Order: sequence, then structure tokens, then C-alpha cells
Amino acid sequence: MKEKLIFDLSRKGRRGVCFGTPDLPSKPVQELIPERFLRSEPADLPELPESEVVRHFIRLSNLNYHVDKNMYPLGSCTMKYNPKINDSTSDLQGFTSMHPLQPEHTAQGSLRLMYELSEMLREIAGMAAVTLQPAAGAHGELTGIFLIKKYHESLGSRRSKLLVVDSAHGTNPASAATANYEIVSVNSNAEGRTDIEDLKTKLTPDVAALMLTNPNTLGLFENDILAIEKLVHENGSLLYMDGANMNALMGITRPGDMGFDIVHYNLHKTFSAPHGGGGPGSGPVGVCDKLVPFLPVPVIEKTEKNGITVYTMNPDKPDSIGRMMNFYGNFAVLVRAYTYIRMLGANGVRRVSENAIINANYLLSRVLEKFELPYPKPVMHEFCLSGDRQKKQHNVRTLDIAKRLLDYGFHAPTIYFPLIVSEALMVEPTETETRETLDAFADALLAIADEAENDPDLVLDAPVKTPVKRLDEAQASRKLNVCCFGC
Ligand SMILES: *Cc1c(COP(=O)(O)O)cnc(C)c1O
Repeated sequence: MKEKLIFDLSRKGRRGVCFGTPDLPSKPVQELIPERFLRSEPADLPELPESEVVRHFIRLSNLNYHVDKNMYPLGSCTMKYNPKINDSTSDLQGFTSMHPLQPEHTAQGSLRLMYELSEMLREIAGMAAVTLQPAAGAHGELTGIFLIKKYHESLGSRRSKLLVVDSAHGTNPASAATANYEIVSVNSNAEGRTDIEDLKTKLTPDVAALMLTNPNTLGLFENDILAIEKLVHENGSLLYMDGANMNALMGITRPGDMGFDIVHYNLHKTFSAPHGGGGPGSGPVGVCDKLVPFLPVPVIEKTEKNGITVYTMNPDKPDSIGRMMNFYGNFAVLVRAYTYIRMLGANGVRRVSENAIINANYLLSRVLEKFELPYPKPVMHEFCLSGDRQKKQHNVRTLDIAKRLLDYGFHAPTIYFPLIVSEALMVEPTETETRETLDAFADALLAIADEAENDPDLVLDAPVKTPVKRLDEAQASRKLNVCCFGC
């Protein structure tokens, strides 16, 4: 790496900011802080002028890849461009100065924002009520599964199995296992959709629910969703939708209308909060009528008092599964999602999904001549290619193709997921890319396919233009060593 560590840039005595002598009475620190909390030696901090600190971090940010730099086609992750106005509103002092413990009557604006956001999300998915508490998609899944458990308990039954389709995101079985369910995998059929015959054999009386992603992780809409809904409900089971792919549905169709009992939303995907660095995220959960009493507490309610609208947090719901977060979720993400939806309006929200679908199908049509598509199109908002042809004919794997894309200035797509596609390359362009950007990405993929045919070493040795070359990825994630000073 060309950029030195900030400690190597340090020179003794350099200063960013110098404070003048205070003009207020002061006391020695020893009188203010107990001895045992004081350092015996000064902290080993780098010493630099402000200009050098700023430049250091700007140079580091240039080494990084982010959605403000170029397209981020990571399938399943919906890495859309996040409008900057979301940051301006979430930075408003009225929000940033809030304390979660301040009295409700002094927090009416924030409570109203949360109430209205949950109403908008409720409408978008066609559910009866929404909780904003969960902190991520996976946390929304866990919340949903607790609701499923509570529902069956309320009927005096204890169903022990959850069905998960084999193309599902890994968080689905992980959440089910966390809630102590036995997981039964349902097969996909030759079209890449849920295999109804297989589902029938697995829908036994001990099945609590089916978890389904629609459109699924191959970007395919579950055309038989109404038949699936009927089978699941006839069995007394519930139907859970992993709503991480809501970017393909908004304003077009609604999980509630398809008969889903529970759905989670990923605000940091569909509703435009920056993500990728591990959060903070937000995974609200919407439910149908019969599950409303079980939602997490407190529930934000809108009431009229002497002709004035008042928002309150009601902790008093005897059938609730309890709290899923301390306080009330990741509030700044909620402000971003609220801003995003209000800026778009109802028609704009629909246009988002329409454009996401158009962009995915356009991009797919441009790269099909060189790559295999294992399941037939049309797709919704994303598609999953297979690198099998390149592997079999030229010994170039999907991993190599992904690495070579970095040399062309693009972030790699999702690879080797979903597991049912061999050498998977999963691309989700999102609605925020222009035709020119989509073309540039398609040209890069096609050029790499040519290189794999004619000069495979170019691809196998990639990347060559990035700050670090090919990493041992297993090592890099298992032996994370970011220690930089004094070790
Ligand atoms: C991202 C994703 C999840 C998990 O959401 P997180 O917010 O990352 O916890 C679940 N299912 C699908 C299909 C996803 O794309």
C-alpha cells in the first residue's frame, strides 16, 4: 500500500489545533478525576497538522470503493445510490440532540416521524401493522420467527419445523436455528422457483411456517405464490416473506395481497441508508391482522387529546413478544428512509421498482452472448449468471472474473451465491444507474469473457491495478490483523 500509516506520518511537536490559555478558573486534573483513572504516561498519539490528517483520510477513502464512486452491482444487497438529502435531514439538530429517555411530550416530532414511516411501510407491503424496532434484515427475521412461535403457542400448539427454500439467503436458516427451530429445506425446480410438489411432501402438521423470498435470490418472481399461500395456510402454517428484494415490488404488488402473514423490510437496502460497513441498519417487520397483538413493545400510537394529536409509546401489550431493541431501533436510519419515501412520493416509489427491473433486464440482455443464464428470464431486479462456460473451457473461475472486474474499475458482483448456481455471478444494478454506466459495466464483463478465451493469464493474475493484489480471502477474514502500531 502506498499510503503510510498515520503514525509514520507523525512528527514530534506538530499540532492541528492549539487551545489558548483558558480565561476561566481551572483546577488540576488530579483534583477532578480519581488517581486510578489517570494515565501514568501520555497516550501515544500521532502528531500532525490538520491539513495532513485530512489529506491522509481523503487518500485512504480514494483507495476504497464506494457507491459514490461508481456502480456497486452486489446482487441481493441493493447497493443503490443514497441521496444526500437523507443525510441532511438525519443530521437536523432536532433529531441529533434527542435523548431516548426524554419525556414523550418533548419528542412528538420524532414519534410522529416513526408513526408515519411505519404507516408508509405498512401501505407499501399491504400489511396490518409494522414495527420499526429490528436493527437489520436478519434481526427482522428473528423478530418474525418469534411472532410465529408466539402465534402457535397462543393456539396451544408447538410446531417445531420451519421450511426454507434452498435458494434462500443464509440468514433465513440462521435465524430459524437461533429461535430453536428445526430447518427443513424445500427444493427449487428447474425454473429456479419453489418446487410445489416438494413443498407438499414437506408440509407436515409440525411445520410452523414457510420462509420465502419473493422475488427470490435468482431475481425470479414466484409465479405460483397464490397456490403456495393456499397450501401453507391449509396446513395451519404461517407464510413469512423475506422482503430484502422489495426493490422489485414497490407500488406494483404487495406481499399482504399475496397472503404473506409476515414480511421484513431492509431499510438500508430498499429505502436508501448507506450500508456495507456493518451498519447501522434497520429491518422493520410488517404483520397481518392476527399477529398484531404479538408485535414488540413499546408500540407507537397516535391519539387525539382535546382536539390535539398526540403520539405515545405504549408498553402495555400483554401478548407482545417483548422488546427487540433497547429504546427504539436505529433512529437515524428511520429518518433517512422517511426522507427517501417522502421525496419520491407514491408514484416515485413505483418508478424505483420499475427502473430497477428495466435496468436488470437491459444489463442481462447485454451480457447474455458470453455468459450462461441457468434459469430462464425474464428477471425482476437482479439476475444470476453462471461462470461454468469460462471455467470448463478456459479454466477461469468466477472468482477470477470478479477479481478482473476490479481492474476495470467496478466493484465485483456477489459470487458463489445462491448455492444452487454453480460458479454464480449475481448482479443487481439497481435503478440509480444510467444507461451509460450499465453499458460500461456490460462492456467490462464482455471484455473479460474475451480475455478468458484469448489470454486467460490476464484474468488469473487479476487484480493488478488495485492498491492490494490478490488476497488470501480465507486468511484475511479469519486472521484479521489491523494492528498497526507497536506490534
Ligand atoms: C441482505 C439480505 C438478508 C439479510 O439482511 P441483513 O440486513 O443483512 O441482516 C436476508 N435476505 C436477503 C435475500 C438479503 O438480501
